[in-house]
Amino acid sequence: MRDMKFPRIGVVLCFMTVIAGCAAPLPAEQTPPIAPAKIPSTPGIVGEFMAGAAIVDITSPTFIPVNDRLFAKALAIKNGDIMAVIVTVDAVAIAGIGSFGDDYLSKVRARLQKELGINPAHVLINASHCHGTVCNDVAERTVQAVREAVAKMVPVTVGSGVGHESRVSENRRLRLKSGKEWDVRHAYALPPDDEVASVGPIDPQIGILRLDRKDGRTLAVIYNFACHPIQGVPNGGNTADMTGFASKVIQDNLSDGAVALFVQGCAGDINPVMYKDVNAPRDAEPLGNMLGLSVLKGVKPIKTTATGKLAVINETLQLPRGDLGAKLDAMKVEQMRLLRSLKGTSLNLKTFMPLAAKYGLSPEFPSYSSHRYLHDKTIGRDDWEKLDVANRKNMQDYMGNILIMEELTRVQTNIALLTRHHEAALAAGRKPLEVEVVGLRVHDFVLISFPGELTVQIGLNIKKASPHLRTFVAGYTNGYIYYAPTAEQLKNLGNAQEDSDCKLAPEWQKIFEDQVADILKRI
Ligand SMILES: [Zn+2]
Repeated sequence: MRDMKFPRIGVVLCFMTVIAGCAAPLPAEQTPPIAPAKIPSTPGIVGEFMAGAAIVDITSPTFIPVNDRLFAKALAIKNGDIMAVIVTVDAVAIAGIGSFGDDYLSKVRARLQKELGINPAHVLINASHCHGTVCNDVAERTVQAVREAVAKMVPVTVGSGVGHESRVSENRRLRLKSGKEWDVRHAYALPPDDEVASVGPIDPQIGILRLDRKDGRTLAVIYNFACHPIQGVPNGGNTADMTGFASKVIQDNLSDGAVALFVQGCAGDINPVMYKDVNAPRDAEPLGNMLGLSVLKGVKPIKTTATGKLAVINETLQLPRGDLGAKLDAMKVEQMRLLRSLKGTSLNLKTFMPLAAKYGLSPEFPSYSSHRYLHDKTIGRDDWEKLDVANRKNMQDYMGNILIMEELTRVQTNIALLTRHHEAALAAGRKPLEVEVVGLRVHDFVLISFPGELTVQIGLNIKKASPHLRTFVAGYTNGYIYYAPTAEQLKNLGNAQEDSDCKLAPEWQKIFEDQVADILKRI
């Protein structure tokens, strides 16, 4: 690997002013100022909680059919003179990819500060990462959701808990016997079964915050879980996917008007189960129903309290960019090697397919009934056996080419990902990536947020090291910087999506986890 030279790396507290108004979307590398106007110097206040929640529809009016609606949901929580706002949106991301535009966050924050006096540092916006299509005026509707939530604020009690759901998700990185890791994607084929050695972990924990009105009715539930909500629905329509269905189950089974806000966790390498099934219609609804019921099971025993701590720590980290040039060169060499290894073949798809069926069905006598082979033997001939030897050799060559083709699709897809991030890094002068990390504490519920697709191990590490029992981690929040895999996973650069669709150098993980440990100490 080449020497990596980074400009000053580490933590900076950001004092940039949020720019109001609407700017044309900027290229991803010129992210407009998203950082908050001021950082609270003494985080947190202990007192009585107030909260309000609201839901606004953000479904695209033009994407037809609509299977189920997409929403922006807002929860405003107040304690003394501190107000925190959590917004969840049924969308792939709030910047970078998807249709939000990179100025969405700054636009929303500026409006909230101007109209409602909300400190931009105290606004968290999390994308569920479902792949649904939203309306064009999503920023305006987000502001509307927060406006309504603030207007509805009432005294509340709060409490946290956990649920457990291990049936709906799987780790999509497959550890191969070669030591490499490939992943379960539609963009490329799965590796042959006998090359797969093991699979990675999931996080079955659901983090829950419940807020009740003083009369005992539930006002809102926040739940945090890690899984790409990308299963889809049988009619191919617009959908909030698994977590949209889960939220509906939760809301339908709580007090009237209760709002369920899904906060996406460390889902970078977590897929829904049966993601590549071709034998049944792909349907997120049963998975969402299971998740929703598991959340409800976790919601029920939570004890709430009227008094507790509300704190927000909002800091900007500078993270080093990966140096992708050498890997990209090596992958292009590998691409040519694979291309050149394709052999001439006597068969084509039309002749291969019936042969594959026959030789699979009757390995001993594939080409005719057994008596023809037996008869040959009695007259001292082996014509049919010779035919089988020739056919088997041709089939093997043909399948060899297919496997090379499958590998080529993966290599080429990953070359495209690396090229995009390499060119973007060069265009940005390899400046460190500025990311916003937030710690939010509501009584004993503690949430850490990050703007990338954190892989599940990062979340498991943070939870394990935290001094707070109820610590949860949200990716996809307050920006979007693509995947954020572990330093270990980045050794696999070029082989799986999470390591190839990534702007970060391996050193990022320690910088982030150290900073999170510090925030968790202070919050
Ligand atoms: Zn993703």
